[in-house]
Amino acid sequence: MEPLLTIVIATSNQGKLAELRSLLADMPVALVTLGDVLDPAPVLTEEGDSFQANAASKAQQACRATGMVTLAEDSGLEVDALEGRPGVRSARYAGENATDVQNNDALLRELGSFPPEQRGARFRCVLALATPWEPRTVRSVDGVCEGSIGLAPRGTRGFGYDPLFLVAGYQGRTMAELDAAEKNALSHRGRAARAMRTVIAELVRAQLAEAERAAADRGTQF
Ligand code: IMP
Repeated sequence: MEPLLTIVIATSNQGKLAELRSLLADMPVALVTLGDVLDPAPVLTEEGDSFQANAASKAQQACRATGMVTLAEDSGLEVDALEGRPGVRSARYAGENATDVQNNDALLRELGSFPPEQRGARFRCVLALATPWEPRTVRSVDGVCEGSIGLAPRGTRGFGYDPLFLVAGYQGRTMAELDAAEKNALSHRGRAARAMRTVIAELVRAQLAEAERAAADRGTQF
């Protein structure tokens, strides 16, 4: 189907980008990245203290920079024994520019000898959509995936904390042991993306109605 709308996905995280592309693949929209539209791509700041604030702010920054409909994402891991940390600092848990392996090592060290029943955790994701014609109104949805933190990393798929995250109800498998389709079906990002599909579908319908009205005004057929 011919795309009816182009949406900029405002993330530089290749893992998130691949998952969002797959989760929105069959929608009648073209998905591009900030780097496809602007060279150099602007660096988006992330200074909020909640996933919601960060996702909304990134969507607005990228929308202002591109003048296009923009989808931004903020997500991370909340560990009960750490009172919700690393939370919005998940990507920087072991320090600025930390690698996934360094973050995972830091988490294992901090949880130390906590027994399995005290290692409860969840992934949380907020997706926010900003439109250039209404930049102050950001539409946000969220998704959560419950689980716990394993004693050692397992699995090679996914990214971030996936090798440490034991998915609730998945017989002790980590997120990194699931294939892409299995992860999308139950992940925080999968859940948020399914809610965002409804928002995007409404936007596409509104765009279509607007194009039809404009064509009628010109006396042409759309
Ligand atoms: P940010 O949203 O760019 O601040 O980074 C979110 C961080 O949370 C990522 O760098 C990962 O460390 C972690 N994270 C978010 N979603 C996932 C996921 O699906 N799997 C594993 N780690 C994730």
